Amino acid sequence: MRDDEPVSGPLPYAEVTDEAYAARAAVDFRAQEFEFAVVLSGPCPRCGHASATTLVDEVYRKDAATPDPGYRTLLCECEVEHPGCPAGLRGCGAYWTLRLEVEA
Ligand SMILES: [Zn+2]
Repeated sequence: MRDDEPVSGPLPYAEVTDEAYAARAAVDFRAQEFEFAVVLSGPCPRCGHASATTLVDEVYRKDAATPDPGYRTLLCECEVEHPGCPAGLRGCGAYWTLRLEVEA
């Protein structure tokens, strides 16, 4: 916790998306592949705080309901408390789509 944060503090929680979020995350996020999961981590394109999302093996499965399982919606999961964040959730509320390029 720093006490030199701007008076306004962290951005208020808002469930928002923007084409720029996806573009920024595509550049900044790194995928780490494990046996049964992929961890995507990088700075949230909205609030800039470090965020990491774990995707379990469902991403590899063919699912009739999702024609292209390579596209996943990611949410900001940073550790910073954003004002107005609903109980049980975390992050600033930003979400975006990321195309997973997983080697077969
Ligand atoms: Zn965020």
